[in-house]
Amino acid sequence: MQLRGVGKTTEKYLARLNIFSVQDLLFHLPSRYEDRTKRLPIQKMRAGHVVLIEGVIQSVETPLHTRTKLLCELSDETGETHLRFFHLPLFLKKALTVGNRLRCFGMARLGPHGIEIIHPEFQVIAKGQFVPTETHLTAIYPTTQGLTQNTLRKLIAEALQKIRQENNANELLPAHLITTHAMPAFIDALHCIHQPPSQTNCQDLLEYKTAWQKRLIFEELLAHRVSLLHAKQLFQTHPSTALTVDSESNNLLTAFREQLPFSLTNAQERVCQEIGHDLAQKNPMLRLLQGDVGSGKTVVAALAMLRAVQNNQQAALMAPTELLASQHYQVFKRWLEPFQIEVVFLSSAVKTKERKATLAAISSNHAKVIIGTHALFQQDVIFSKLALIIIDEQHRFGVHQRALMREKGSTDHFHPHQLIMTATPIPRTLAMSFYADLDCSIIDEMPASKATISTNVLATTRRDEVIARIKENCLQGKQAYWVCPLIDESEAIDAKAAIAAAAELQAAFPTLQVALIHGRLKAAEKEAAMQAFQQGLIHVLVATTVIEVGIDVPNASIMVIENAERLGLAQLHQLRGRIGRGTIASHCILLYQPPLSEISTARLGVMRETNDGFKIAERDLALRGPGEVLGERQTGTLGWRVADLMRDHHLLEDVKKSAGYVVHNHPELIAPLIRRWITHSEIQVNPDL
Ligand code: ADP
Ligand code: MG
Repeated sequence: MQLRGVGKTTEKYLARLNIFSVQDLLFHLPSRYEDRTKRLPIQKMRAGHVVLIEGVIQSVETPLHTRTKLLCELSDETGETHLRFFHLPLFLKKALTVGNRLRCFGMARLGPHGIEIIHPEFQVIAKGQFVPTETHLTAIYPTTQGLTQNTLRKLIAEALQKIRQENNANELLPAHLITTHAMPAFIDALHCIHQPPSQTNCQDLLEYKTAWQKRLIFEELLAHRVSLLHAKQLFQTHPSTALTVDSESNNLLTAFREQLPFSLTNAQERVCQEIGHDLAQKNPMLRLLQGDVGSGKTVVAALAMLRAVQNNQQAALMAPTELLASQHYQVFKRWLEPFQIEVVFLSSAVKTKERKATLAAISSNHAKVIIGTHALFQQDVIFSKLALIIIDEQHRFGVHQRALMREKGSTDHFHPHQLIMTATPIPRTLAMSFYADLDCSIIDEMPASKATISTNVLATTRRDEVIARIKENCLQGKQAYWVCPLIDESEAIDAKAAIAAAAELQAAFPTLQVALIHGRLKAAEKEAAMQAFQQGLIHVLVATTVIEVGIDVPNASIMVIENAERLGLAQLHQLRGRIGRGTIASHCILLYQPPLSEISTARLGVMRETNDGFKIAERDLALRGPGEVLGERQTGTLGWRVADLMRDHHLLEDVKKSAGYVVHNHPELIAPLIRRWITHSEIQVNPDL
């Protein structure tokens, strides 16, 4: 580190705080502040207040038979107080002699002799010396044992001075943005966060409400969005195979459409056109397909894949779970094999001999449609002519994972087109920050024949009633899901809850078939249970949330979710999306453990009121903030320095506009912004910038 007084030891301590450079040091922000700017007359000390006082030592005693090692009496012209020490290094003890003038800082409390301070920070003021009090609030930093606040403060003050000398080289926002937003300059913002003027409101600082903090938050959000936009621009300079299909001719697409038992909704038609247009380009498509559960994304995916096949190219579809991948495989086999298209399946559960054959089919371009889990992107999987990658249920993957996958599917010359499908309706503001690198298509219409779903919210005390109702319905030929959600950190314990529920239900329904599915089962076992359920051989499928995503069994029309109060809205909506997929009127029963907290009451109320995923997502955002909506993983792994999506999401709309402005008018700022804010970035920076 290029700062004075940073030896090997300090460097080691700083490393523990992830501080490796002057910049890291500057971004090591205070966790709180103390006001040491005003000296308080001793007489005015009140218990519970943190105070700065100054006085002369009147007496020093070492009381017998107490824990107190040293008790000092200190007085100024207004009164006297005590300083109490339970332990004290020798060199400090020496400073505490009668007649010395001390400046002390600490929390006043009521002691046996009146107001006192335990273990104040203190400094001896030599006779005749004038030591001004601090001119700004004192920052308290997160630190590590061995590294004092004073050392940190000194280093940071020096770092601030150092970058001051660089004049405006630190300013990465265009003047236009700074003026229109009336923002402070970067260096001033940083300076004031580390050394706030004495009149600053501490509460505002703690809540990140000051203009200085907002300036940094804004810049960080902006940098993030700029980096995604930039990654997209960069990616789209690569060549890819143009997948053109003559719409008049008798091709695979028309043939496939003709044999579908339904016709596409207007919304499906529209997104198919958007996708078709992108795929016909010589640069890769990067498109997000959003559509609520049951809106019919799979058939849109199939039509996109057929465009690749029609051009003698390959298309791969990746799903986040084994279960979902294998279900897609069944569907695509059924749909595409009549057209002599070879569909193969790959996951970590596909072993040795079979795997070898599959890999050979993939590398020889024999297999045209490849379905699987992220096993698709293992090193030994070599595609022959991969022109399109589709990722289903994107919300399980992070932003950076996505960038990585893009690279993996690429050959030297060609980059595949990419379509990402998600059923998680993401409120617009949040979607912007997470999907800035994607164009967006939305299916905003449900297939007409969709059955109604009604939702009841019941206390678990009425569980027996519910069981009786399910029995009745299943005896009439209906099928039901019984969901025991993940409530424990450990899969093992959750699996147990599901196992117990399955046993209980089987006992209650002696003439009906109950099956069980949870994360601890082998892939083949899960699949066998799923298939039996699909074929109607099983009446009640007891499951953990493994069935949350994508599972499609149109005959299943009842869902019971236990401990529903513990699940987030997004997850409840996903789960409920498993029913109402056919033509049968469907029922969802949310069982909760009373008493319900206010927020759980509100959430379950939302579920009862609406089936509209976008409405639910907006309500979710209002109730719980983005962490809930996007999942901890996605908000957490971004590694923000200052920003907090929970607190700052209202800025995103503005950030979006400003990021566009920066990318268009100030491309020279892109690289420095990414370097400043996006640590350990997997996002490439164009070396030409
Ligand atoms: P999701 O968007 O949740 O992935 P799916 O693609 O699984 O939804 O579709 C849900 C169900 O709706 C499937 O059984 C599918 O065959 C059916 N479906 C899709 N599109 C239509 C349509 N236009 N009309 C009628 N049913 C449709
Ligand atoms: Mg789906």
